[in-house]
Amino acid sequence: MIPAPEFASFTPPRRILMGPGPSDVYPEVLAAQARPTVGHLDPLFIGMMDELRSLLQYAFQTENPMTLAVSAPGSAGMETCFVNLLEPGDTVLVCRNGVFGERMRQNVERCGATAIVLDFPWGEPVDPAQVEAALQQHPQVHFLAFVHAETSTGALSDAQALCALAQQYDCLSIVDAVTSLGGVELRVDAWGIDAIYSGSQKCLSCVPGLSPVSFSPRAVARMQSRTRPVQSWFLDQSLVMGYWSGSAKRSYHHTAPVNALYALHESLRLLASEGLEQAWQRHAAMHQELKAGLEALGLSFVVKEAHRLPQLNSIWIPAGVDDAAVRSRLLQDYNLEIGAGLGDLAGKAWRIGLMGYGARRENIALCLKALSDVFRT
Ligand SMILES: *Cc1c(COP(=O)(O)O)cnc(C)c1O
Repeated sequence: MIPAPEFASFTPPRRILMGPGPSDVYPEVLAAQARPTVGHLDPLFIGMMDELRSLLQYAFQTENPMTLAVSAPGSAGMETCFVNLLEPGDTVLVCRNGVFGERMRQNVERCGATAIVLDFPWGEPVDPAQVEAALQQHPQVHFLAFVHAETSTGALSDAQALCALAQQYDCLSIVDAVTSLGGVELRVDAWGIDAIYSGSQKCLSCVPGLSPVSFSPRAVARMQSRTRPVQSWFLDQSLVMGYWSGSAKRSYHHTAPVNALYALHESLRLLASEGLEQAWQRHAAMHQELKAGLEALGLSFVVKEAHRLPQLNSIWIPAGVDDAAVRSRLLQDYNLEIGAGLGDLAGKAWRIGLMGYGARRENIALCLKALSDVFRT
């Protein structure tokens, strides 16, 4: 016998999460998750899932029937979009202005499709003029993929303009909205977005582990005309929809993460009761407060003001300041987590998140106080 390990039950402290995600979870969402588990085919649970779909349609501003939460984090939502839409032989224009655009490229290639990569400097948005030139130059491109809110840099791209170009050049658009959903303006139907994925743990302030996705009728038609099955059984939407589809008769596909879906339902309910536009405005207003305080501390932003994400503030680490030491003091002494730089910005920038429930005055005050204390000593 291997002896039984004896551990105390894991009781984390209450941290203030002001990094790139996970963000602070609403107390109501944590409470919702602790409610009794029911069967994933229980009629009451199916009713909750129908509400969840309506709430997701509201958050995405779409009437797409194929709108659901993938039972896995944002990366699985990303993969869901690519594996369901692409087949070998397809060509995708991938815009890369940070870490997540690069992951899109890897997904395209793993589907056996070809990626044409358009690079933009880190910290800058995707430039629609360059995208248009590339679409003109490469008529074989039938998909345009880009990240709306690049969490690795804090840059916001113009999803509306990019999706209009996709339509004009007969491409389906694939949009990463993991950090944008709930934090900045996003309108799936009005902007003509074809495939979109997000994450539960950023501006929705839900627990990590779920990925809302939505597909336009054009994207669904594309899936239905595939010549070969989706290589991933788990992410194949034609199978998953048997469980999520509108009729009362649902068939087992995989066991839904029942309690995590309670949590998502609650976080979206809170978003709907605040109002989507009010939530966008709150993120913008809190960003202005944080910005004023950071600038008063002498800190400067990585991204130009016009393209800055309110929910993800990348700031340059001042010369002579020890990146890891500061972050560890914030965590030890203030229970405050801010994000390290990622990729090209590792060691050079910090990323301060103001996401969902985290985008509030007391968090900003704590963050500014903690930074000024730490800089002084
Ligand atoms: C966080 C993030 C992801 C990945 O989401 P996970 O839930 O960590 O898998 C993808 N894209 C962007 C822009 C993100 O910020």
